[in-house]
Amino acid sequence: MDDLRRAVPRTDVVLADPQVAARAQLLGRQPVKAVVGQVQDRVRSGALAAEDVVPAVLALLPPEPGGSTDVINATGVVVHTNLGRAPLAAGAMRALQAAAGTTDVEFDLTTGERGKRGRLTLAALASAVPDAQDVHVVNNAAAALVLCATVLAQAREIVVSRGELVEIGDGFRLPDLLVSTGARLREVGTTNRTKLDDYQRAIDDRTGFILKVHPSNFVIRGFTSEAQIGELSQLGPPVVADIGSGLLRPHPLLPDEPDAMSALRAGASVVLCSGDKLLGGPQAGLLLGRSDLIEQLRRHPLARALRVDKLTLAALHATLTADETPVNAMLGADVVSLRSRAQQLSLTLRSFGIAAAVLDTRASVGGGGAPGLALPSVGIGLPASACARLRAARPAVIGHVGQGQCVLDLRTVDPSRDPDLLRAVRWALGRHD
Ligand SMILES: *Cc1c(COP(=O)(O)O)cnc(C)c1O
Repeated sequence: MDDLRRAVPRTDVVLADPQVAARAQLLGRQPVKAVVGQVQDRVRSGALAAEDVVPAVLALLPPEPGGSTDVINATGVVVHTNLGRAPLAAGAMRALQAAAGTTDVEFDLTTGERGKRGRLTLAALASAVPDAQDVHVVNNAAAALVLCATVLAQAREIVVSRGELVEIGDGFRLPDLLVSTGARLREVGTTNRTKLDDYQRAIDDRTGFILKVHPSNFVIRGFTSEAQIGELSQLGPPVVADIGSGLLRPHPLLPDEPDAMSALRAGASVVLCSGDKLLGGPQAGLLLGRSDLIEQLRRHPLARALRVDKLTLAALHATLTADETPVNAMLGADVVSLRSRAQQLSLTLRSFGIAAAVLDTRASVGGGGAPGLALPSVGIGLPASACARLRAARPAVIGHVGQGQCVLDLRTVDPSRDPDLLRAVRWALGRHD
């Protein structure tokens, strides 16, 4: 026992190892020290040889300081909620870096006085949707809904179709969220059919607003009917439209997906949506619409609790001014180029003795919108056991098991990551160098 204890390398000695020191520079000294402590315990208990301490420490350290691991999304789900939704454009990533220090986020460099917070981001959003009289940004679309319910329907009623009281995911149920603000729900119609007349009969002096929600993760087919924003806007109370995914204008590839411009033109008083779904930006809740209502939302005390930070404002600005976002590139990637990438990759993998096949697949937009829409795509088929091994690779690669194979769908993989993908597959299947 004493011998084991004496064999344990001292903490300062381990920390002085050049490789460990380099990781401590990146990750901070405290987390590295904690791992060194764990590894020393294993030497003390005889589970690890003293000379293996440094490699064991290096293996246990996280690769990134941010507490999350770089993942290549090969699921074929473009906006994957569990993988951080929209990957940001390169410009948005640069904007995040630039905004990380102190900035003029709420300061006027000309006058030297306090400036309107995030004014350039708000201006970029307003100019992206000229039909909006005014705009505001909060933490996410759920926050935007809470703010609307609190400000526009406190102790009053929100008139909403039973077919639109949806659950978005991870237990987020729209009705629960709305009721938590103190607003009352006035449910109208049925799950599959709600008519203008249903709304009309529910509207009285208790009505705060009419809520129109785009069910972004399912479709109801068959005997259905719903009232349109245009008709609802004739009924009197403001119409708040939760369009979900955050398209600002109609998208040619997503004809059934609602967009902010069309909803406003149809007569919505306020449109709200997410920033990190089809808009392809950071997590945010965008509010666009009538200037008197947006002003009320902005001035309410709750708005302060829902406000976005300088990083969000910076990434959102760069997203709004970018020529193209990765999400849009993935949606628009043509099958011919996907197939030629798949052929290239599988050829290379086969040259390393890995059984890789080119497969026709079906990708989807994901929880971010366009439910039921299949995007024709191409993937690489690997032995089914590869999926678990690929999750252990760094970067991790997430595919899905289908037809007895591990399928890596290329529509959701940025082509710049193909070399990383190759390396990960070779590592996972044990055929590296
Ligand atoms: C995703 C979604 C929300 C929630 O958006 P978050 O930005 O995640 O808060 C709300 N409504 C609809 C219709 C959605 O699709």
